Amino acid sequence: MVKLFQRSCLILLGLVGLQFSKLACAAIDPSAIDNSFVILQYHHVDETTPDVTSLSNEKFIQHLQLIEKLGFTVVDLAEAIDSVRTGKALPDKSVAITFDDGYKNIAVQALPELQKRGWPATIFVNPGLLTKSPSFYLTWDELKYWSKHKMTIANHGWEHDYWVRNDAATNQSWQQKIKQSITKTELAIEQHIGYSKKLVAYPYGEYDTWIQDWLKAQKLVTFGQQSGAVAQFSDFTALPRFPASGIYADEKTLTTKLLTKALPVDYNLLPSPIVQPNSNPPSLQLKLLTAPVNPLNCFIGGKAEMDLQKLSATEYKISAKQKLEKGRSRYNCTMQTKQNGRFYWLSQPWVID
Ligand SMILES: [Zn+2]
Repeated sequence: MVKLFQRSCLILLGLVGLQFSKLACAAIDPSAIDNSFVILQYHHVDETTPDVTSLSNEKFIQHLQLIEKLGFTVVDLAEAIDSVRTGKALPDKSVAITFDDGYKNIAVQALPELQKRGWPATIFVNPGLLTKSPSFYLTWDELKYWSKHKMTIANHGWEHDYWVRNDAATNQSWQQKIKQSITKTELAIEQHIGYSKKLVAYPYGEYDTWIQDWLKAQKLVTFGQQSGAVAQFSDFTALPRFPASGIYADEKTLTTKLLTKALPVDYNLLPSPIVQPNSNPPSLQLKLLTAPVNPLNCFIGGKAEMDLQKLSATEYKISAKQKLEKGRSRYNCTMQTKQNGRFYWLSQPWVID
């Protein structure tokens, strides 16, 4: 059904030219809307590492039990991306598991527990760090071993550098440095593991329009750490993941997140997360790809200090009432689906200098 719809969009594209066809294809096949999956993001699985990015082995195993209990299928990240993009139906409850930074502690119990269940996961690594501190990070030999047991090894930049800064859009040498960090990592993975799955996780989850444009041209699929689910209409240069460590390890809120679907909006219209000083608080415009099934609710930091204007039947403008504080922030928007307890979810990250 989705494929058929895409094909008719392509035929339209040929017949009427790019401008109009983009408009025509903006309406979406209803069967693509709920064909989505969520991604969980972990860092350390250890009790001696920083709370904010850690959870215990015991808690991690409880998460796996929760995934089982809720009837989820644990999917391979690259395969699931391919499925949503091409319109191949995924199980209604699908989840992919990811680990950032490649810490050694994930191999103590977390990876063996996944292996025991035959479940895949993806490990995003920094080649420049893992060779410097082999007692702290998984080594290439260890990563090679896990790559033979359903774990995908993927790109997290050479040394976990910051990739965004205010003047980056016009700073060629900065851009060159970041591009090198990504391509060098891609080459190292190919050399040591034997493949490149073309999957990149942004260090600190931070991104900007110029990096997205370049990644798209390189056909690299990229992940942030804003929340939400992945569907055919997602922005594949800024895919959402739900952090599941620290305060986010709580099973009740994790259940709600696991059951989310991607809010069906035009992701091409989302702004860069970099907030310039003269546009704080930033405004977010959302255009639904279908008629709303329920009211849209938006919040910031769990509190409803937002202005939400409905511009038309499918368009909204959202803005915080006060200036956002320096650092990282996000607007979250949800809409109840037709199924009780399941929400469409979108998170827009902001970086304020
Ligand atoms: Zn990281």
